[in-house]
Order: sequence, then structure tokens, then C-alpha cells
Amino acid sequence: MKSKATYLSQLREIDTKMVRVRDQLRRISSDDPQSPRKDKMQKRFENLEKRKTRILVNFDCSLRSYLERLESRYQDTSVVRVNNALCPGCHMKLPTKEAILLHDPNQYVICSFCGRIIVSCPVDTDGSTTQSH
Ligand SMILES: [Zn+2]
Repeated sequence: MKSKATYLSQLREIDTKMVRVRDQLRRISSDDPQSPRKDKMQKRFENLEKRKTRILVNFDCSLRSYLERLESRYQDTSVVRVNNALCPGCHMKLPTKEAILLHDPNQYVICSFCGRIIVSCPVDTDGSTTQSH
């Protein structure tokens, strides 16, 4: 069973990809609406949406509704990855206790300044994690 933080990291990756695909879709639609690439992009976007839904079922109602509220406020940056003990969303320094908590990839914290969800671990789907135990 994966931790919530792992799912949140995956959610973050998917959100990032969705932004990119949506941008490309918008560009294709205005440049060349007949392009076959448009269908492909549309499919890709739908796949990402499906993956997102599958991840969301792992969260309880309160976290899910919290995420929804975050998304309506911050769109695609509701989940962020910690950067040098800073919240990348609002650039505020995290309290020491929370920064330490984020050394554990299975933990996540909620930024007390902007409310974004902050995760620590890179997603392990491509095996790029180099953390030793
Ligand atoms: Zn913040």
C-alpha cells in the first residue's frame, strides 16, 4: 500500500503534464484545427484525467474536497514539491519541524501560509529516485 504522499506526488506529476498537454492543444486548435495531432493530444489529456481519477480514489473525502478547493484557487499548482525548505507556491520558508518531516518521502505537509500541499519525494515510476536507506 502506497502512502498518501506518494499518491500526492503522482498527482503533481499528472497535473504538470496536463498543463503541458492543454497548452499544446490550445496552440494546435488555433494554428491548425484540422491537425491529426489534435486528436492525439486530446486522447492523451483524457488518459491523464483518467489516471488522476484513479489516484483520487485513494484519498478520503476530506482530503479530496481539500484538493478540490485548492485546485479552484491555484489550478495546477495545488500540490508542490519542496525546494530547499521553501514552499515553491508562495516562497515562504517552512517551519523547521515541517522541513524535517519532509525528509521522509512518505510524509506531506500543508503550507501554513498558502495552504498548498507540499510533498518531498520525486515520483519513483521511472526509477530515478537515488535515495539510499
Ligand atoms: Zn505556501
